[in-house]
Amino acid sequence: MHSYDDQAKALTDSVLAYAKNRLALDPPPLDRAVSLATLQAKVPPTVTESGIGGEAALSLFDEVLSTSCLSSDHPGYLAFIPTAPSEAATLFDLVVSVSSIYGGSWMEGSGAIYAENEVLALLARETGLPETAGGVFVQGGTLGNLSALVAARHWAQKQRREAGLPTPERWKVIISAESHSSLRTAARVMDIDVIPADAGDDGRLDGAEVARTLAAAGDGVFAIVATAGTTNFGIVDDIAGISAVAQEHDIWLHVDGAYGLAGILAPENRYRYAGVENADSFIVDPHKWLFAPFDACALVYRDPHIARAAHTQHAEYLDALTEDTEWNPSDYAIHLSRRTRGLPLWFSLATYGIAEYRKAISTCISVAHDIAEVIRGRDGFSLVRDPQLSVVVFTRDGWTLAEYEAWCAKLLDEGTAFLVPSSYRGKPVMRFAIVNPRTSVPQLVSILDSMQS
Ligand SMILES: *Cc1c(COP(=O)(O)O)cnc(C)c1O
Repeated sequence: MHSYDDQAKALTDSVLAYAKNRLALDPPPLDRAVSLATLQAKVPPTVTESGIGGEAALSLFDEVLSTSCLSSDHPGYLAFIPTAPSEAATLFDLVVSVSSIYGGSWMEGSGAIYAENEVLALLARETGLPETAGGVFVQGGTLGNLSALVAARHWAQKQRREAGLPTPERWKVIISAESHSSLRTAARVMDIDVIPADAGDDGRLDGAEVARTLAAAGDGVFAIVATAGTTNFGIVDDIAGISAVAQEHDIWLHVDGAYGLAGILAPENRYRYAGVENADSFIVDPHKWLFAPFDACALVYRDPHIARAAHTQHAEYLDALTEDTEWNPSDYAIHLSRRTRGLPLWFSLATYGIAEYRKAISTCISVAHDIAEVIRGRDGFSLVRDPQLSVVVFTRDGWTLAEYEAWCAKLLDEGTAFLVPSSYRGKPVMRFAIVNPRTSVPQLVSILDSMQS
């Protein structure tokens, strides 16, 4: 186990060969989940006193375990929000793995952290945050949203203390009724109240509604969350209007762009995010629409000092770290030990250049808009809303939930596409979430055709 002996060398060859083969699959088989009973029948005990050996475990993974998982980078994976990592990003994930870098402190990971921070600086620049902005890559958007809200509350608490004001009975956060479930989860974890604001018929929360909600909310609102790309519809809130209200009342503005903020890189789409430059914090997930593998969320603060004060862990054995002035990524979220999970994105950006990213994101947006046009013009189909980013929601007129489900099951059986029905105002709808530049209009048209036969 501890030496790079012949056995380890052979296993290296096998694992790298596996990686090479997987990368070369274009597209990879879609595959699908199977039942627990099926796996119990097919998989012998593997975690045993003597183990089964790396070669046997790898074969088992290759033949049974991995084929019982969906390939979320398949261009027909259109349910939820897929992932479509670039070759460079995926390859560099392997490099991160072999490098044993502790990404929590500058003392241990300076070079890797430097590169991660270059990516965070790019994101801060694109959104218009000041050069002093900074943050950290965390595991996912859920943790990013929670960490940002914890920093926001910490800051509000401090402001109150310094002003000699009492702590409010309940801390409150205003979120859109259309915002992501992770924000309600964060509120539960923090034991704070969610004040939902109505996003209206078009699903886009605006400043006027936030002002009304705030006026009715009473004391204790410490943060407002705007969504830059709702998960269901890909709609960007009126960030400019919302940020004006937040600024007027000196309330923290967090922008949840886990999926959709990546769209800011497409120049023709930039205008949708006006006002994001006023955010106190934002998140965007590279594993969603920035072509990096699972799992990573870029969390950026306007003033990282606030986050550091909220999040630094204190312990005797950590004193050497917490008292220094260097940039320690651990200090900016709810975590301590961390993988330098921003590096695959860094390597991918360095490999292809930002311009390629802009193009790939534009491609997804134009594919979404093109297929929306097709749906609009097709008998028997209705577009539920005009797409903004790369999510398209539509119905096959008259279909019941059971009909959608049967059709989805058939596509998955054939290995052509992974779709799941969603719902809108109590009615079943279908949804294409397009973050893979290899997803094409003809492919989507043939999926539509299959609903007519
Ligand atoms: C996906 C998503 C999240 C949660 O991100 P995870 O990485 O899955 O934890 C939060 N907000 C929005 C808008 C999302 O689309």
